[in-house]
Amino acid sequence: MHRLRNLIIIAHIDSGKSTLSDRLLQATGTVSAAALASRSQFLDSNPIERERQITIKARAARMRWGDSTVTLIDCPGHHDFSRQVSQSARAVEGALLVVDASRGVQAQTLSSVELALEAGLELVPVINKIDLPTADVPAARHQIEQLVGLDASEAILTSAKSGLGVDTLLDAIVERLPPPQGCREAHLQALVFDSYYDQYRGVVLFVRIVNGTVCKGDSIRPMTRTHSDDGSVSEFIVDKVGFLQPDEVECDMLESGDIGFLTAAIKRTGDVPVGDTITHCGDKGAQEQLPGYEDTKAVVFCGLFPTDSGDLPAMRMALQKLQLEDASMVFEPDKSAAMGTGFRCGFLGLLHMSVTQQRLEEEFNLNLFASAPSVSYKILKEGETEWLDVSNPASIPDGKVKIMEPYAKVELICHSDHVGSLMELSQSRRGELQDQRYIGLDRVKLMYSLPLSELVTDFHDAVKSRSSGFGSMSYELEGMRPNRLRRMDVHIANSAVDGLSCVIHEDNAYAEGRFMVDKLKQVIPRQMFKVAIQAVIGGKVIASEQISAYRKDVTAKCYGGDASRKKKLLKKQAEGKKRMKMIGSVAIPQEAFLAILSRD
Ligand code: GDP
Ligand code: MG
Repeated sequence: MHRLRNLIIIAHIDSGKSTLSDRLLQATGTVSAAALASRSQFLDSNPIERERQITIKARAARMRWGDSTVTLIDCPGHHDFSRQVSQSARAVEGALLVVDASRGVQAQTLSSVELALEAGLELVPVINKIDLPTADVPAARHQIEQLVGLDASEAILTSAKSGLGVDTLLDAIVERLPPPQGCREAHLQALVFDSYYDQYRGVVLFVRIVNGTVCKGDSIRPMTRTHSDDGSVSEFIVDKVGFLQPDEVECDMLESGDIGFLTAAIKRTGDVPVGDTITHCGDKGAQEQLPGYEDTKAVVFCGLFPTDSGDLPAMRMALQKLQLEDASMVFEPDKSAAMGTGFRCGFLGLLHMSVTQQRLEEEFNLNLFASAPSVSYKILKEGETEWLDVSNPASIPDGKVKIMEPYAKVELICHSDHVGSLMELSQSRRGELQDQRYIGLDRVKLMYSLPLSELVTDFHDAVKSRSSGFGSMSYELEGMRPNRLRRMDVHIANSAVDGLSCVIHEDNAYAEGRFMVDKLKQVIPRQMFKVAIQAVIGGKVIASEQISAYRKDVTAKCYGGDASRKKKLLKKQAEGKKRMKMIGSVAIPQEAFLAILSRD
């Protein structure tokens, strides 16, 4: 039997994770240098990923090194997708921790390291970009020891750019990482750590076989999600099994320790969710599923409206199609007095929201307008006994209504110098300190209970900027809590813009109202008439501003001459206009609906 090694790579964005993965594929002869050159970055295959330079979906690749078989899973770096990191971590025994030699250990690396350590993974530190003149290897080593708490004396030094150190790294992977445990003769238990939808074959599952074997023709079933949405029992016949190299290579059988893919005419990714355990149907099935399954939960919601109402059917089809491959995105029809008819959509976070919106526009040719994002509340109307879920603040009724909001348990790790600044930030966001302790000489861990609505805005950016980029943050949902919350509306030119409604705490009402009208005054362009902006709670104006009349002539700055420049500017203005929504007689830019997101 081959010696197996399974691992993930964790790194801060831009440390060279994808470049290094490509080098490993090349050094092991899995993919030729020519093929690599012709297809930029093998493991990042989604065009939006490439454009945004982030890895959204985890990808796997299997390679041979000596008499060992090494399988590498590349996982996303952004927090919205941290669930994928934890799922991938469950599928492997080891992790490479890639640190940029010129920048050292950065924010977010720490929370990924914690995920890896929680999953019991063996970590191999790698200091990359040693070719850079600004590389400081001793400093990077020191930080790995101080911040991450790993012995860095045996860190592998690499340049993914030149290929230096890559062979040494492969040797270290084989020598230092433990082989998978598991029993080939036991009943099948396969962990689904990722999946995607293929229009011809149905869902392609990426699996780690923990125990047993699986072959083409086997009858399989997911152990948690035993029934599909339509109520039918979820059982599938395996069409195909294989490995990723990183393209799919079919084989006869996957066995315990293997990482590979399988297809079984599964129609929706939600039918066999990521994190679930697959086993055989009938007596041959395992009794227990693998530990650690968690349901995904949308935490941020917004209304998406086609700018052309004729696109509504096309938008519904596009959302249905996207949901086949991304079961974490949810949607339902939505109607807004100001914005028209569209859909209320839920996402894992703001990045997930903007990536999805971009996909709808680029892959499905839709023009969309988004309302202000919000979390989901629970409300209790007067005289009623049942709490209702409300993810659209505009649909919270006026008058006596109790509101509960979601809280998150937030963990912040930072240098002791930044504790004061992060505490100030957390308190300004209604956070309650739960615990504070030193971990290591000058590293501090803060635990807060914080309203999710305060967290999903720019909290993460604020943590980073207040800690010189070194603070790291992770959170998990904690539950709902009642608070003195009120719906705040925004009136522009005396008409309510429901897409701008939000929920605020009574104690902060005036500050929130002031913030909102000031922000809107900055982003709404002057019109040909005076425009009043008002923040309103329960019919009472709590803050107002006025935009004075002005006629915008964008070409005024180009004194005569250059006609092409003039044309360009006019074209730009026309494009900008596409992103305007007419509310009554006022044109409001898309930006206004995102204004509430930038706080700090
Ligand atoms: P990722 O975000 O961690 O996947 O990082 P990428 O692999 O996309 O690399 C980010 C940038 O760093 C790219 O411009 C790479 O060309 C560059 N890069 C990666 N590794 C090295 C290295 O060893 N040396 C130098 N000089 N640049 C590198
Ligand atoms: Mg990458």
